Amino acid sequence: KREEIGPEAHRIDPALVDERAVNVVRTLKEAGHEAYIVGGAVRDLLLGLRPKDFDVATNATPEQVKGLFRRAFIIGRRFRIVHVVYGRGREHEVIEVSTFRAYMDNAAAEAVAGNEKTSKSELAGMKHAVDASGRVLRDNVWGPQEEDATRRDFTVNAMYYDPETRTLVDYHGGMKDAGKKVLRMIGDPATRYREDPVRIIRAVRFTAKLSALGFKLETKTGAALKPCLPLLGDVPQSRLFDEMLKLLQTGHAVATIEQLRSLDMARGIYPLLDLIVERADVPFVRAALLDTDRRVGEGKPVAPSFLLACVLWSDVRDGWAERLARKEHPFPALQGAIDDVFDARIGDVSGRGKLAADMREIWMMQPRFEKRTGSTPFSLVEQPRFRAGFDFMRLRADAGEVDVVLADWWQEFSIASDQVREDLLAQAR
Ligand code: ATP
Ligand code: MG
Repeated sequence: KREEIGPEAHRIDPALVDERAVNVVRTLKEAGHEAYIVGGAVRDLLLGLRPKDFDVATNATPEQVKGLFRRAFIIGRRFRIVHVVYGRGREHEVIEVSTFRAYMDNAAAEAVAGNEKTSKSELAGMKHAVDASGRVLRDNVWGPQEEDATRRDFTVNAMYYDPETRTLVDYHGGMKDAGKKVLRMIGDPATRYREDPVRIIRAVRFTAKLSALGFKLETKTGAALKPCLPLLGDVPQSRLFDEMLKLLQTGHAVATIEQLRSLDMARGIYPLLDLIVERADVPFVRAALLDTDRRVGEGKPVAPSFLLACVLWSDVRDGWAERLARKEHPFPALQGAIDDVFDARIGDVSGRGKLAADMREIWMMQPRFEKRTGSTPFSLVEQPRFRAGFDFMRLRADAGEVDVVLADWWQEFSIASDQVREDLLAQAR
């Protein structure tokens, strides 16, 4: 089943391969281990795309890997992998190194979890899978490369590449599927979605990303998606929230929403995502989605807070208007409206403090753009989140919600010298 494919057949461009990933592979091999670039990076290389990050798979244990690099950290309590770090600050790069893992179907995982004796040898090398649920064990038992390939999701995501010999290793016909442009689940799709329902969302994400290259879902892989949707009910809300953010930040948010609609999955993954799909054609939301895709395409950072602030803005605005009509003071009215929206739409997904704070700040800044007197504008432009608040206001202007002249004025003001700012203020009066 194992196929080794040479450079004249796979035609991967070595210039697209990150030298630090090559270095990690070389170091591991020189120490006598097997090591390959793996997963999405190989897929992208094969398609002629520059991978945004590189993962390496090896038969060395995390401890062995750590010992070979100056700056390497074992991370994750459940899924132990090693981060090998190069460079510092903004330029820093992390190569993620994972040990080949065994493939266990549900029965095998339960057998291991239930039987201390058989688990002894199979659990060699794992110290942390103490709460032995099938899921945890399944992802932590080391195994041969062939099984490591089988436990992966899609055929195009399950290939290995040795950048030194330029050999591609393929167990599941990933190379052929890449040529045919199909996204195919390894094994029986419904079974694999049951093992890990998040694969349903991953299928949507990769189809959206690869649809620009002409990829289609393989028939059974696609047909099982909708019937398996209820399985997402067992997935923790926080993981669904993270997966939703990934869907929106791949640079293909608009394509993703189209995918969800055409797969008849516009509803049912996560309530907030349902809402985004529902509102995707509202011009203001549309503009925010396109803006996000454009930024990702240009390699600029995107903040999920900005997009979510756009999606939920109409709720905030309506709630605010209602409170103002009840004669509440503008500032507390806006605060109150924001609280209501968080309660209704975000819920208490823990660890979202920063995201929520950023959204609140973007919204609270909006009325301050209307005040162009005294020292207010000077302090507003100095705020760390001014840019996000301004970009938000610019989108509102594009949507006809505020005067374009006001947006232009702030644009000028934000880049002007103090002298010019005084003049601009005088004009605004
Ligand atoms: P991206 O380019 O978006 O990072 P990726 O393919 O690298 O895509 P990752 O989430 O980074 O996706 O995962 C790396 C690899 O790990 C995948 O290519 C796949 O082989 C495997 N993998 C990740 N998540 C799963 C999963 N839920 N089930 C099976 N295999 C998975
Ligand atoms: Mg990746």
